Amino acid sequence: MPQGLLKNNREWAARKLGQDPDFFARLSRQQEPRFLWIGCSDSRVPANEIVGLDPGELFVHRNVANLAMPTDINFLSVLAYAVNVLRVSEIVVCGHYGCGGIQAALRDERHGVIDHWLEPVREVCRNEFGTIDPDGDSRLQLDSLCEANVKAQVANVAKTTIVQDAWTRGQTLNLHGWIYGIADGLLRDLEVSVSNPN
Ligand SMILES: [Zn+2]
Repeated sequence: MPQGLLKNNREWAARKLGQDPDFFARLSRQQEPRFLWIGCSDSRVPANEIVGLDPGELFVHRNVANLAMPTDINFLSVLAYAVNVLRVSEIVVCGHYGCGGIQAALRDERHGVIDHWLEPVREVCRNEFGTIDPDGDSRLQLDSLCEANVKAQVANVAKTTIVQDAWTRGQTLNLHGWIYGIADGLLRDLEVSVSNPN
């Protein structure tokens, strides 16, 4: 029952206040996150929790398969606000192994509306493997496409006018590509970080 969630919330808020009586008063005045997180909607990858950050410390955008498409006004709005107003200095694109969205893109089956959303992943797949293998949902292929997709999305973020303009005016902004292992709870750096070119 959702009422259980409301009860959980009251207990959580009380616990936070117990640890830090000024916690919510401070947050209500302003947020100053240093990080923008672009991650998958998957319920097993809760952004704040896996990096040990409190409310106020991580600005978050999540969608199926952690895509950063220049045609997505939701993503662009989040990115523009994070870079231009909050002035985050670090942007993390975080994928995860065993991503259902990536798996759906790999399979030659019709899923409905989500197929439109996942078309960029198929593009990454074609670039990475040359073709979409109709039986291509082996664990190895899935995991390497999950990684390739993160790398492609980091490149997409770097190419946006928002990031390019920030770099041109000398704003410190570092992009990173990470991947999360649902099976072990660990993040891996895919070492595709990019920073101001000059
Ligand atoms: Zn996912």
